[in-house]
Amino acid sequence: MAEVSLRKLRKTYGAVVAVEGVDLEIAKGELIVLLGPSGCGKSTTLRMVAGLETISAGELHIGGRNVTTLEPKDRDIAMVFQNYALYPHKTIRGNMSFGLKMRGMKGGEISRRVDAAAEMLDITHLLNRKPGQLSGGQMQRVALGRALVRDPAVFLLDEPLSNLDAKLRSRMREEIALLQRRIGKAMLYVTHDQTEAMTLADRIVIMRDGHVQQIGSPLEVYDRPANAFVAGFIGSPEMNLVEADLKNGFLSLSADVSIPAGSDAGEREVIAGIRPEAITISDEGPEFAVRGIEQLGSQTLFIGETAGHRLRVMTQRRDDIKVGESVHLALPAAAIHLFDRASGERLEMPGGAA
Ligand code: ADP
Repeated sequence: MAEVSLRKLRKTYGAVVAVEGVDLEIAKGELIVLLGPSGCGKSTTLRMVAGLETISAGELHIGGRNVTTLEPKDRDIAMVFQNYALYPHKTIRGNMSFGLKMRGMKGGEISRRVDAAAEMLDITHLLNRKPGQLSGGQMQRVALGRALVRDPAVFLLDEPLSNLDAKLRSRMREEIALLQRRIGKAMLYVTHDQTEAMTLADRIVIMRDGHVQQIGSPLEVYDRPANAFVAGFIGSPEMNLVEADLKNGFLSLSADVSIPAGSDAGEREVIAGIRPEAITISDEGPEFAVRGIEQLGSQTLFIGETAGHRLRVMTQRRDDIKVGESVHLALPAAAIHLFDRASGERLEMPGGAA
């Protein structure tokens, strides 16, 4: 049975529909990431689960109970906020104990839980300090610890790493993934950062304008994006998306660049998508005028133009090609994703492409 079940959740603010029809089941031990651009409804969805926003329509079940209208404290959840929300005048031990004290838990049990969480997060030596004496990464650990001591059915995290610098962010990401495996609880995690989603999630829920676009494992959404929006959002560097036409068994990117698409592909206007890392530089094939080069160390990203389309091409390190030169590209048909140009929906092609 699912630990958490969101059933057709909807949130409106007057005439504004912030979230529409979100259906999601989260299993025990599963880490689900809500991903999407700013304003797509991720936080509102999380806050409805937390009980910080009322639910306009639909139902929310946690641990088999319908908690749709219950107060946050009665939902068996703990939340970690982006700004940590620590009390500045309390010690770290005081901060981690406070919620338990308010629930009337006995002192011995509180100490036991705080000590165990502190050890797990490697913050035992900080317990007597005040938040002002901690670094950002340490405060983030304390915020996690405060959720951990509650031992809830569900952990809710709202952009928990966005105040940290890039290096610390990737380290805390690894720690959260390990912690999650160790505690085996359900976790719902909000971010706008696709790398964070890809590296952390068991399953990613991609949202846009209040609607779920796709739910799947990181590799499922990478390999088979449900629409052009997901295709452009998942993956770094971004997938190349170009307007093209399916006609006479070919996918035409321009008058003189065509790729075999199978004889029964039909005729339609499409968006063709190909990942920068799926393109190779070759001895023959369409010409690619190199306009920019980004050296990333082990890999090289080329930005340039083919048949009037701007393309990004990612290869293993190359330092023999210069800006202003032209090379040839291999665009393998099997690596091309096709989307209907009008609706953006993924097209399943009988042969060749997609
Ligand atoms: P995200 O977390 O994905 O950035 P939000 O869930 O915060 O997005 O917001 C979703 C939509 O709901 C946005 O269009 C936002 O402007 C709107 N919204 C959020 N909170 C309120 C509010 N209190 N009143 C009116 N509109 C809101």
